[in-house]
Amino acid sequence: MIFNLLKNFRRKPQQEGIINTSPTIIPRAEHAVSRDDISDRALKVLYRLHKAGYQAYLVGGGVRDILLGLHPKDFDVATDARPEEVKSLFGNCRLIGRRFRLAHVYFGREIIEVATFRASHDQGEGASEGGVSEGGQILRDNVFGTLEDDAWRRDFTINALYYNIADFSLVDYTGGMDDLNNRIIRIIGDASTRFQEDPVRMLRAARFAAKLGFQLEEGLGECIIELADRMANVPAARLFDEVLKIFHTGHALASFDIMRELGLFGYLFGQTQALLESDDPYTEDFLRIALGNTDRRIAEKKPVNPAFLFAAFLWGPVKKRADQLLEQDGMTELQALQIAGNEVLSAQLRQVSIPKRFSFPMREIWTMQARLPRRNGKRAWRLLEQARFRAAYDFMLVRNQAGEPLQELADWWTEFQEASAAERSELIKKVGGRSPRRRRKPRKAKTASTH
Ligand code: ATP
Ligand code: MG
Repeated sequence: MIFNLLKNFRRKPQQEGIINTSPTIIPRAEHAVSRDDISDRALKVLYRLHKAGYQAYLVGGGVRDILLGLHPKDFDVATDARPEEVKSLFGNCRLIGRRFRLAHVYFGREIIEVATFRASHDQGEGASEGGVSEGGQILRDNVFGTLEDDAWRRDFTINALYYNIADFSLVDYTGGMDDLNNRIIRIIGDASTRFQEDPVRMLRAARFAAKLGFQLEEGLGECIIELADRMANVPAARLFDEVLKIFHTGHALASFDIMRELGLFGYLFGQTQALLESDDPYTEDFLRIALGNTDRRIAEKKPVNPAFLFAAFLWGPVKKRADQLLEQDGMTELQALQIAGNEVLSAQLRQVSIPKRFSFPMREIWTMQARLPRRNGKRAWRLLEQARFRAAYDFMLVRNQAGEPLQELADWWTEFQEASAAERSELIKKVGGRSPRRRRKPRKAKTASTH
């Protein structure tokens, strides 16, 4: 009972501004975070800040994941040193970000992110530093604050645990330790306000629920369903990284389910969502197989490629459009896939931006679907040499598994890859015939060339 009261008291009301809450300090001997679990680079950054007289804490996913016995992907450091002060301590440091000014300390490929303690946007003295749009969305979030302020402006309680390098204790302002033990995702402050401030937090709630297998606190799911349409305000550029974090960290299938349950998926892939709502089960079957494969590859520590992931998410709409084009205009399958691919991609870019280094190979994966059946002459050999061949082949296997009649083609390509040169020639002979000429529409009367 008292415990419950205390817990409620801990939930800092948003509107009252700064009130003092005392944190729970969990000493070194009573928690499971050990320096062995923290990367040497992150420790180096923490120690250097500490030696220079600043406060330095490990925070966020690093602490959360270590406590759960997982291996953190990255380490985030929070400090009272200002970004410029951090920069002057580390030669290998760059200040980045407009919305959040952060210091990135580089060690080869590893980046340690160092953030100065920040307060909630509504605690800034001048309107120039913090700002909220009419819809309640945070525009700038650069008001420096104390450790306590920093804890209360984080998203979920399990993400607001601080590991103090000065005495190796854990600092818990928001009740994150209890929630971690009870496997609950609890938002800090009022859910509706916090989701409206930054709708990406809804995606993050779904992602952590899928990744950790935690429950959303009571009422949180309903709140997300109600506010899901705020996602439409999130700039497309911010969502590419989020999509990768959701679907490329080994929990793609679980994330897909929870995102759909919460009504969020359509704000990432609207065209695909429309097909998922239709009677045709193909798109869903295809995606479940593709996402299951992605999870398996990650579990086996095999590489995964964003081009393949996005090609898979958009395949349903591309195929549907290509089928329509083929019926209407009598064009070749390759042309239909090219046009459909371009149309679907340009609509998609309004929701989630996809860098060109991924959208080019993504379109190649689609158009190669029309090339894989054409194996005569030198074609099969040439396809095999293409950089995107393996991805296109894997993609075709998923289509086959999802019910497209491609078994023979799939078996042929599987055999062809494993065969010797002589066997390959035999396989090509089996395909039969000379390479078919591309069907062209009969030309009308000769017109002047436009080229
Ligand atoms: P992971 O790195 O496993 O994806 P994470 O929790 O570390 O998870 P990051 O994106 O690295 O996620 O963010 C680090 C920390 O910054 C979070 O743990 C959280 O405390 C805070 N944070 C990140 N995004 C937001 C947000 N949109 N609103 C409030 N706090 C956030
Ligand atoms: Mg992190």
